[in-house]
Amino acid sequence: MIIPPAPQPPEFSPTVKAIFDYYAEKYNAELSRPYLGGSIIGTACERALWYGFHWATKKQFSGQLLRLFQRGHKEEPWLVEDMRAIGITVWDTNPDTGKQWSFSEPATGHHLAGNADGILQGIPEAPKTPHLWECKTHSTKSFNDVKSKGVLLSKPLHYAQMQIYMHWTQATFGKANGCKRALYTAVCKETDEIYSERIYFDKAFALELIDKAKRVITAKTPPPRISDDATWFECKFCDHHAVCHTETVPLVSCRTCTHASAEMDGNARWACNLDKETPSTIPVEVQRKGCDCHRFNPFLLNHWALPVDASVNHNWVKYTNKTTGQSFINGIPPEGHTSAEIFAAPDKKALSDPDVQAYRHGEFKARIVG
Ligand code: SF4
Ligand code: SF4
Repeated sequence: MIIPPAPQPPEFSPTVKAIFDYYAEKYNAELSRPYLGGSIIGTACERALWYGFHWATKKQFSGQLLRLFQRGHKEEPWLVEDMRAIGITVWDTNPDTGKQWSFSEPATGHHLAGNADGILQGIPEAPKTPHLWECKTHSTKSFNDVKSKGVLLSKPLHYAQMQIYMHWTQATFGKANGCKRALYTAVCKETDEIYSERIYFDKAFALELIDKAKRVITAKTPPPRISDDATWFECKFCDHHAVCHTETVPLVSCRTCTHASAEMDGNARWACNLDKETPSTIPVEVQRKGCDCHRFNPFLLNHWALPVDASVNHNWVKYTNKTTGQSFINGIPPEGHTSAEIFAAPDKKALSDPDVQAYRHGEFKARIVG
């Protein structure tokens, strides 16, 4: 009898590919946050926070990773159900608005903001004390780490997030009614083991975070790097590694424009100061596109291009490419390059190339598009 060979498992699945493509298309199109998030204010590198606040980089993730992120969100309603089943009162939305708990910090012009997972009352460990709730899912390695070291040492970002949210509940409901405790719940994605830890409010720490946010929001230039070594462990995993350590140019939007400023009055207000006499408030949807008058904040390019001259009246900045020693202008074409061209140029030498320049003039009106 001839035994037919066992069918080989397929190496490629069009179904799986279509699912991941769907996630990549749907979630990579999500827009950058307009505010500095309470969920990341514990980040060690203030420069990374500044880049994020200025939309310097839009990270693109694989469909598989984006689906994994969604798994974390799906865990929350399940745990809410579990907690209610054991008698805990869970306010996973704000009863006044029917929406997610949203907070922002007046001392930062409301630029520092965030959304909490919920507020709990009646947890078995302390039934009378209201607790801020934060829910996170973890890989086994990460779960074991938090279980052995505790939240403060293992997940300093989550610890900071809860401190700032507890501060905001006290600012909103008053010291007596706000949360002085938080309950951190960690769920292991592989085993479904749950770890929880009560976190005590540390007012001084929360106020330090607000000061940190103020520094980031009001800084006109990128704060110092946490390390000048591009292989430093925090840099290796940083979304802004390319903009921070290489010739990669940040994205074009009002947030990277030298004429924009984050204002401390109003509600997370940004202003365009192109017309110095009458600065104007820029709506978030306008900030995302910028305009043809966009000129890069020179400090965003200064590790490869040195600003050597500028005209306020004619809105241009002249740079010397530090590698080639040649000049280029961020200004009006054809003499200058728009910010979009500087962003698009795959090799920044093209910005000073006489042959490229020749095609920018006369009938060709060529522009760098990639
Ligand atoms: S690459 Fe490093 S220094 Fe630069 S922003 Fe990121 S963490 Fe900070
Ligand atoms: S000049 Fe244009 S890109 Fe720059 S801040 Fe004003 S509106 Fe935004």
